[in-house]
Amino acid sequence: MKYSDLAAEANGYLNVVQEVRRDLHQIPEFGLQLPKTLERVLASVHGLGEIHKSETITSAVLHIKGSQPGPTVLLRFDMDALAVVEDTGLPYASTNGYMHACGHDLHMAIGVGTAHLIATHAAELKGDVLIFFQPGEEGHNGAGVMIDEGAHLVSGQKPIAAFGVHVFSGLAPRGLFLTKPGAMMASAGDMVVRFKGSGGHGSSPWLAKEPISAMAEAMSALQTMVAKRFSVFDPVVINIGWVQAGDPHTTNVIPEEASFGATIRTFSPENTEKVREYASSLMLDIAKGFGVEASVEFSPYSPVVFNDAAAVDRVARVVTETLGEGRYMTLPTPMTGGEDFSVILNEIPGAFIFLGATPADADYKTADFNHSNRAVFDDSVIPDACAVLASLAFDVLDEAALKAKSVE
Ligand SMILES: [Zn+2]
Repeated sequence: MKYSDLAAEANGYLNVVQEVRRDLHQIPEFGLQLPKTLERVLASVHGLGEIHKSETITSAVLHIKGSQPGPTVLLRFDMDALAVVEDTGLPYASTNGYMHACGHDLHMAIGVGTAHLIATHAAELKGDVLIFFQPGEEGHNGAGVMIDEGAHLVSGQKPIAAFGVHVFSGLAPRGLFLTKPGAMMASAGDMVVRFKGSGGHGSSPWLAKEPISAMAEAMSALQTMVAKRFSVFDPVVINIGWVQAGDPHTTNVIPEEASFGATIRTFSPENTEKVREYASSLMLDIAKGFGVEASVEFSPYSPVVFNDAAAVDRVARVVTETLGEGRYMTLPTPMTGGEDFSVILNEIPGAFIFLGATPADADYKTADFNHSNRAVFDDSVIPDACAVLASLAFDVLDEAALKAKSVE
């Protein structure tokens, strides 16, 4: 199969996939329950294969069977939106208080187009493809739920490769595909620290147990901890996103409690564990030094997005074979964002792929970025992404068939 022919074929889908994407853009839904979204997606892939729906969340797996037996490849597309009020001025802008500000509407349209390409060529497909339509990527662990429920096993065997794609409204020029071997995106989790003292009169803090000073020391000590206890070559980010203490109308009252919450980003499981250990003892000891008490809570964290080196090589080659030179670049550094595709990559070797979707009239270095209420994505990149993902599936299965033959 010539992958460049798939690209030409996918180009013929442009109007249809844009329509799918723009319809979905107007009905964004949040979290793990996306009934309208899933209904619209499934209407667009009707008849292409078996549909397996979850009974607990609005996920679905489209199982496309090849004409010849062989292994299974998994392609994943996330579907959820953000609680952001859209301010793009686009004719198809959302008006329901949620927004596809992370481009997951493009991902779904890519999934739909990819499914059509693969199903059209099922006669040449030497195995099975699972198209994952996943809710709840934005911090709801939708991928984890799908894996726990065995959605990746519906073909009767564990997939041998997994790929996912993410578009960006900035970061990269339009139409450029990027990935990298090893750690590509951070492990992400939260930490909440509470300091408990005893309240009193602001004029005489020595008669109370004042918790705000302990919290202030603890917050700055966390940054020193990052700088002094972690290797600069295996970075850690701790960013405090909220603080709470006292009452903004009063200065002469010492509150009983003070608390803050932070997001933690790491690039290795070792550091994820170390942050928990070091930060806990630091917070408790600082509190002790100030004569107050502290408690530290960590949320479950998404693992590091860790790409398989061979899968990354395959992406580089397949993008070039499909779309020509100049369309692939190695991502120079990992990204500190988190992504639950990591849960799938922990089970199945594969690669996550970034795709520049900066509008033609914007500069990718300054364009409003993903999650912004003004983020605009150029959906003309969708057909090329369909061709690349379909080609990756064919490439994996063709190679496996060749190997099986040489063993015989
Ligand atoms: Zn996203």
